[in-house]
Amino acid sequence: MMDFNPTARLGERVEALIDDGLQRRAAEQSARTYLGASRVGVACERALQFEYAQAPVDLGRGFTGRLLRIFERGHRMEDCMAAWLRAAGFDLRTCKADGEQFGFSVADGRLQGHVDGVLLSGPDGFACPALWEMKCLGAKGWKELQKHGLAVAKPVYAAQVALYQAYLQLHEHPALFTALNADSMEIYAELVPFDAALAQRMSDRAARVIQATEAGELLPRAFVDPTHFECRFCAWQDRCKSLS
Ligand code: SF4
Repeated sequence: MMDFNPTARLGERVEALIDDGLQRRAAEQSARTYLGASRVGVACERALQFEYAQAPVDLGRGFTGRLLRIFERGHRMEDCMAAWLRAAGFDLRTCKADGEQFGFSVADGRLQGHVDGVLLSGPDGFACPALWEMKCLGAKGWKELQKHGLAVAKPVYAAQVALYQAYLQLHEHPALFTALNADSMEIYAELVPFDAALAQRMSDRAARVIQATEAGELLPRAFVDPTHFECRFCAWQDRCKSLS
């Protein structure tokens, strides 16, 4: 039969081929053997345990090719924003002289974090040195951030910033948090003063997750209702359900 819509079919085929390639590439990358500071603020400590223990995700819950493309867009937009900030007059360092990212490693390497950059100087009004953290967000998330600010709209990122400020001793001056609206390319920026109480809570939380996991103890579920949206999007929902 004649194919009246060959372009759409070609698009689907090329997308499937690309997604296969991306998923293969992701599978070849070595798994993280530590708890990432960027994840410590997630809503459920049990989910964090599964992540830290590298428990296999439920069937069909791995990263899709589309999601991997979104992650890559985030990395590339980070480079763009760094270049834009430099063009605006910031002295922004995104890696050390040896090319390594700035970061920290504590608890014998069990908790680690890698920061987007450190601002050494900036235009008038910007106190340095300061942490720089950047995210590329879809329009909905970006608008929530604009409306409510980092701490309310994106608590996971707020926890990440507080931990980085604490462990990299960059707490004296507010961090510069920037977010790019991936749809409109609008820029959000917020100066984030150091929240010592949040950093302490998150540090304690990381220690609890690491210690419990290594002792073989399962931390309580954060949500009793399995239809809660955090559970519906949790990669270990079946595993969680099968355990006490
Ligand atoms: S299914 Fe819900 S309660 Fe269980 S680990 Fe995931 S987020 Fe936590």
